[in-house]
Amino acid sequence: MSTYTIVGGGIVGASIGYHLVKAGHTVTLYDRADSGQATAASAGIIAPWISQKRNKDWYRLVTAGAKYYPEFVKKIETETGVSTGYKQEGVLSLFKDDTVLEKGFKRIHSKKENAPEMGEVYKVSREDVKKMHPHLTDLYPGVYVEGGGQIEGASLLKALKAGFLHHGGRWINEDFNSSKTEGLLIYASGAWAVEQGYAPKIRHQRSEVFHFEVDEAEKVTDTPVVMALGPIYLVELGANKYAIGTTHTETESFSTEPSRENYDYLRGLAQRYFPGSNIRDISMMVGLKPFARDYMPYIGYAEENVFIVNGLGSTGLTASPVLGREIVKFLNGEETELDFGDYSYI
Ligand SMILES: Cc1cc2nc3c(=O)[nH]c(=O)nc-3n(C[C@H](O)[C@H](O)[C@H](O)COP(=O)(O)OP(=O)(O)OC[C@H]3O[C@@H](n4cnc5c(N)ncnc54)[C@H](O)[C@@H]3O)c2cc1C
Repeated sequence: MSTYTIVGGGIVGASIGYHLVKAGHTVTLYDRADSGQATAASAGIIAPWISQKRNKDWYRLVTAGAKYYPEFVKKIETETGVSTGYKQEGVLSLFKDDTVLEKGFKRIHSKKENAPEMGEVYKVSREDVKKMHPHLTDLYPGVYVEGGGQIEGASLLKALKAGFLHHGGRWINEDFNSSKTEGLLIYASGAWAVEQGYAPKIRHQRSEVFHFEVDEAEKVTDTPVVMALGPIYLVELGANKYAIGTTHTETESFSTEPSRENYDYLRGLAQRYFPGSNIRDISMMVGLKPFARDYMPYIGYAEENVFIVNGLGSTGLTASPVLGREIVKFLNGEETELDFGDYSYI
């Protein structure tokens, strides 16, 4: 058995830590809970088949991630008794008109052959959109994918931490410096990786999400995740409560003050997707999404005793549990399903 030090207790560090201690290794994890942690701000959508992104290495990773989720969540919830908030109500992708809907349906449906975990995939008329999601606008038709899911980033972290501690891991809430290293050092430090300065350079995008409540007598729950027009999504946070996102600002700043401009923009969108409803503000969430070159994750050695896992961008919640499982196999010298040569591209 080996000894590891992990820096970063966001989703990917915690997931690697959990899988390492379960495999019997000695692990110490440092996390300083920076404001802007991407995991805590995340929308938690697990539906990679909807994306139009064409990179095959990325797609292999996130589809493996989505496939692993139900099994992984069941395991960790049973082991720890902590709910992760995972639900699989499907995902509804909206299209601006019937012509675009046909194209979207073909594109999404064609992915089912290699991803049976998508479940049923079918077109949804404007009227049926309204039946599936009563408060939502009926302006747009959609495509429904049954296997789409949603996770609460903060709750999943709690479960991972509980599982990590249960299997003997040491979780230390403090800043890390290299004199504390024991065994192999794994940096999973998200946007803050600039402090370590290894290649590839990690940049970050500041993303904001608006949480709100729809003031309607009819209490609605169990709605699918909505991928709206453009890069907009809507997720349910409980009866009549939703989050809408997101904004993307590439920046070097680590400020996590919500911006007035983004608030106005997202609130306007909330009103557009819930026309006629009174929108009540809950909060603005701000997260710093880490990106590496070409918007691809970087997973590999930076030097002999330093392993980096970063750049998970907009789909890190989807990818991290399976990455935890696979990285542990890789470090153990076992056969892996993912080829890590695809992600260690320096
Ligand atoms: C608004 C938003 C919406 C998103 N929506 C989705 C989605 O729907 N689906 C999806 O799959 N993904 C989504 N993502 C992406 C996902 O959240 C991220 O890819 C993922 O959380 C990145 O995880 P991480 O562990 O790399 O980084 P983080 O979660 O940012 O964690 C890094 C941790 O490292 C700690 N740290 C850094 N340096 C040190 C140090 N020196 N010492 C101690 N601790 C340190 C920090 O304090 C932090 O806790 C979203 C992200 C955002 C911001």
